Amino acid sequence: MRLSELKTGERGVIVKVNGHGGFRKRVKEMGFVKGNKVKVILNAPLRDPIEYEIIGYKISLRREQAEKVEVISESEAKEMLMASENLPPIEADDNDDAIIEREMTSLAEKRRKTIRVALVGNPNCGKTSLFNIASGSHEHVGNYSGVTVDAKEGTFEYGGYHFQLVDLPGTYSLSAYSPEELYVRRNLIEEIPDVVVNVVDASNLQRNLYLTTQLIDMNLRVVMALNMYDELQARGDRLDITQLGYLLGMPIVPTVSRTGEGISALFDTVIQVYEKSDPRLARHIHINHGQEVEQSISRLKALISRNENIRYKYSTRYLAIKYLENDKEVEGVVESLPDRDEIIAARFEENGRIRSILGSGLESAMVDAKYAFIQGALAETLSLDSGKRKRATITDKIDAVVTNRWLAFPIFFLLLYVVFDGTFVLGEYPMQWIEWLVGKVGLFVSSVMNDGWLKDMMVDGVIGGVGSVLVFLPNILLLYMFISLLEDSGYMARAAFIMDRLMHKIGLHGKSFIPMIMGFGCNVPAVMATRTIESPKSRLITMLVIPLMSCAGRMPVYILIAGAFFPRHAGLVLLGLYALGIFLAIVAAKVMSRFFKDDDLPFVMELPPYRVPTGKSILRHTWEKGRQYLQKMSGIILVCSLAIWFLGYFPNHDAYDSVAQQQEHSFIGYVGKAMEPVLEPLGFDWRMGVGIVAGVGAKELVVSTLGVMYADDEPVATGSDTRLQKALVRSVTPAGALAYMVFILLYFPCIATFVAIKNESGGWKWAILTAVYTIVLAWVAAFITFNVFSSLS
Ligand code: GDP
Ligand code: MG
Repeated sequence: MRLSELKTGERGVIVKVNGHGGFRKRVKEMGFVKGNKVKVILNAPLRDPIEYEIIGYKISLRREQAEKVEVISESEAKEMLMASENLPPIEADDNDDAIIEREMTSLAEKRRKTIRVALVGNPNCGKTSLFNIASGSHEHVGNYSGVTVDAKEGTFEYGGYHFQLVDLPGTYSLSAYSPEELYVRRNLIEEIPDVVVNVVDASNLQRNLYLTTQLIDMNLRVVMALNMYDELQARGDRLDITQLGYLLGMPIVPTVSRTGEGISALFDTVIQVYEKSDPRLARHIHINHGQEVEQSISRLKALISRNENIRYKYSTRYLAIKYLENDKEVEGVVESLPDRDEIIAARFEENGRIRSILGSGLESAMVDAKYAFIQGALAETLSLDSGKRKRATITDKIDAVVTNRWLAFPIFFLLLYVVFDGTFVLGEYPMQWIEWLVGKVGLFVSSVMNDGWLKDMMVDGVIGGVGSVLVFLPNILLLYMFISLLEDSGYMARAAFIMDRLMHKIGLHGKSFIPMIMGFGCNVPAVMATRTIESPKSRLITMLVIPLMSCAGRMPVYILIAGAFFPRHAGLVLLGLYALGIFLAIVAAKVMSRFFKDDDLPFVMELPPYRVPTGKSILRHTWEKGRQYLQKMSGIILVCSLAIWFLGYFPNHDAYDSVAQQQEHSFIGYVGKAMEPVLEPLGFDWRMGVGIVAGVGAKELVVSTLGVMYADDEPVATGSDTRLQKALVRSVTPAGALAYMVFILLYFPCIATFVAIKNESGGWKWAILTAVYTIVLAWVAAFITFNVFSSLS
């Protein structure tokens, strides 16, 4: 009987906990595990929750929760004892209690040997054939859909277990559109079979797996019967069954239900899953619906989860997904919730947001995401015998080229080259306009304000500081526009796919690749983009090495210094610095992956169909990423450039005639001087140290700070000023200059990135680790650079 039916004072032994995975986990964690004894402390009618005692603890369960726990009660045990002819042997010190307890335990054990299995699958995939062969029945088998109109039940014994098998109607999906679909869904939710057998037609995987993805959403225990396996083999196709099973998080057993091949293996696996004898066999995965849709799902899930009652019956993620799909039945569930208005409003908003970003509503975005998931899973595991079939869709044709063994990498690098080159060539013009505009604004402000520190602060601190960062906005936006183009067209997913194997070699995942590329623009959105990586280990390592990807903010330092010291090889130096960053990122990732526990669970790299990106969605995506950069600028960079201005302005502002002398005797000068002993082995002077301090706020600030530090009379506003370059050449050796660029490339990833890493990794620990390791790495690399090049020249 159900735990909720036990009366006050009555005892019982737990048989099993029914319900979806999330619920089972929670209840089991409370101690409601098979074989445990439970006693009812207080169960009054209409009283909720009910109070229990289990493994020495008092715990209360809600009635809905207790309904999902199966028990053998004292009264059931007594009845059995009375009815049985041969009473169990009575031992000397036995009292009635001990006998009843023993009987309860043994009954519970027996009851546990009953496994309820439901067959779910598309029409015509061979469910009824499987049902007949397993249960020995003779249900009508037909080669057309709709033969099974309602559930047929059959029972059989196998492997020491009693099976109750249900043959459900065939459905393509679990939406609430057709009566069959609704029927199957209700059955899965109300009856909650112990194990669902998803019967799949192996000769039509793409379509059949759609239903599978919906079963995954429901968080049920599923075993896949890969039926019609004979047809797959006859075609000469090859499928990596183990890998597909890992990717989907469920065991897959090939079957031919016409002949009975594989059926016993199927039910052996059902028993294993039921008994959870091998944790690797089944795991709960989430279908990744893409960052935007996942954000909507999380939001709705959080809102729905506030309603405790509902979580017993449904997986809240499932409810959120179905609700966002405008599912009529789930809408009914939501309508009954006390905070329904908020949930309805949230869906409305999310729908609008998704429509404006993706250009389609949530419902179709989710269907697309599920097919992208299937496409990705099959691309990794299924190889069609190409001789026998023509590739059909446009997507297949494009994929044949861009993921081709020989062409994939050349195409990929060509595209990357176009992206980076395009970014800088096109970015040149708006950059000049912004420079011009910032200059004009500075002039205007200084002409209208009265002389004094306030004016100096406005002109040098605010306008100068923020302006020096603003000039990179076009480059950043352009880079993100190109990346959005590659993403929206569907190519980026392929790039991640072809990089996957290489990335695995350094302990990362193919999906780590896109955030790393984005790091070339600005590390902040790149760190945020790691959200798409499912594996926590890969995600963390990716985040920690992104700071080594040379962001656009470091570019002006290279341009300034490489232009001054190595005018004829500036391009080479630049390339070398980027390559050094990438190389060290690879090394760092490889080293780190040794220290982290391996969670290398395989997961699917979704392959969405190719699309011509719409202008609107490109604009939206570019803006989303650019906004993160602008936020960084308007907040942290403004504060930091003000702080640097302040430290360089005070004290002794009016004590010296020359700006450089004044700087030397300002706070920032003192800091730079204090750092000198650490920087000397690298060939830097104290003014370069000040630049390094400024770069902690944002690397863009290094150049403008150097401009101030090396100014003879007047501050030098922009980095390309040759006066600053001349001053630098006079004070530093080329080896020191090179070491300085290396240092700027590697050290502390700017405050905004630091904060982003803290937020995304969930703790200061990782942000601090990143800061420490990058600073140490920078010092060591700069030291080596300085000494090697000093000895060369
Ligand atoms: P249902 O609609 O899912 O119940 O599917 P049925 O059990 O009615 O089977 C549909 C058709 O597929 C029948 O003609 C079966 O004989 C055939 N069939 C079932 N299983 C297999 C199999 O493993 N291999 C092959 N080749 N045919 C099968
Ligand atoms: Mg049937």
